[in-house]
Amino acid sequence: MPVKSDQLTKIWNMVLGTLETTIQDRALYANFLVPSYLYSLEGGKAIVVTDSEISQKILSQDYSAVIGAALKKATQSDYSLSIISQDDMKKSKTSDQIGLRPTESRSFFASSYLKPEYTFENFVVGKSNKNAFQAAVYVTKHQGEMNPLFIYSKSGLGKTHLLHAIGNAVKASNPALKVLYITSDDFTDEFIKFVKGDSDKESLKDFFRSIDFLLIDDIQFLAGKPSTGTMFFNIFNMLVSQKKQIVITSDHSPSQLEGLEDRLVSRFSQGLSVSIEKPEKKTLIEILKTKIKADGFDPTLFDEDALEYIAENNSKNIRVLEGALNRILFFNVSSGNTDRITLELVKLAFADDAEHNKKPGQLTADIIIEEVAKYYNLTESQIMSKVRTMQISLARAIAMYLTRNLMNMSYAQIGKTFGGKDHTTVLAACEKVDNLAKNDDNMKKALKTLESQLKA
Ligand code: ADP
Ligand code: MG
Repeated sequence: MPVKSDQLTKIWNMVLGTLETTIQDRALYANFLVPSYLYSLEGGKAIVVTDSEISQKILSQDYSAVIGAALKKATQSDYSLSIISQDDMKKSKTSDQIGLRPTESRSFFASSYLKPEYTFENFVVGKSNKNAFQAAVYVTKHQGEMNPLFIYSKSGLGKTHLLHAIGNAVKASNPALKVLYITSDDFTDEFIKFVKGDSDKESLKDFFRSIDFLLIDDIQFLAGKPSTGTMFFNIFNMLVSQKKQIVITSDHSPSQLEGLEDRLVSRFSQGLSVSIEKPEKKTLIEILKTKIKADGFDPTLFDEDALEYIAENNSKNIRVLEGALNRILFFNVSSGNTDRITLELVKLAFADDAEHNKKPGQLTADIIIEEVAKYYNLTESQIMSKVRTMQISLARAIAMYLTRNLMNMSYAQIGKTFGGKDHTTVLAACEKVDNLAKNDDNMKKALKTLESQLKA
């Protein structure tokens, strides 16, 4: 169903709201984007019309990815984007013939680019991510001193954002520096092409020699790929010896990474490793407000209890939090736009969402780990780590014990869930807790409190 024109205008305003904060170049924003408009959203295609030939060229060559991302954010849907000029519009009414322009080509990693919308300025800093944020800023100013900087966290907590922010900050302070952002999958693909001889002339290693900042995302996907790993190992060493900066992200700390060569893992541990934890409510609400502004809305239009509700129901993953926010904004636009975003409206936007209305009581090991961590004032990463201080070991043992008793998982399964521990380790931990529970009052109290919270 085609989207109606007044809705198109509202959606385009949301897109502009995002672009206003993400595109640094004020003149470009004012003279090229603002005069453009969203012509249609239909059949998976979005058509944006510019007011001149030049504007069409500039926007489609350099800004189509950013515009596409802002549009995705506004609509929560994937559209393939065509940018055409007013004149083209007149010439051809059959808009489906208009395709995207090919992007510029580079010998390796041709499609890699830094996302301008991820900056340090729009990264909300709180207790959960302060260490990672500070380390990220540090490496932009002290290239090659801490190699690598290794940032790890669960999904959706800002690792990719920080990587791009590092790249953008480096480029802003010195445009001559070469920054490469890639995922470890990009690296694997390029390596395979290279080995097959598809890429031409220049060797992969020579290419990397010219890079000053290598930002490599989601290194865990290098697991189980020994020859790619070896190539990466060589490139890594070369860059470190030249004092180039390497920043790596992953879903686990170096010591918990599985399926990677030991020598690679030990290199990863050489620099600085920092984790990002789940944000506290205050930070979540701050992030929400930042995103609302970036979408071109005024955060004061949101009732405080509406914001709290969104934050509380989407606290584990900021990508999900953003999705929820966009859904609410889009819902508001498409259901006739009320002046204020109230708690009722928010609930209505999620009324038919099964995932969101999921009954409590669907316990997972993650929830248990989270509760135990909170109880002992530890982080989830500490529980999942291999650290053996008394308190952390005990908390870990309790988490295993509760997983065994409340979820009926096998010792082997629990071992796997807790970062690849042997089933005998889990068994010993459970027995230890069992024994303590008989005599130790603190243990009795801890178990009682935790069990009642988890069963609630
Ligand atoms: P990860 O790479 O850890 O899975 P991302 O960096 O992709 O997570 O973050 C998911 C989304 O959440 C992104 O849109 C990012 O901008 C946003 N986000 C995460 N942390 C913050 C933060 N502290 N402030 C603002 N936005 C954040
Ligand atoms: Mg990521």
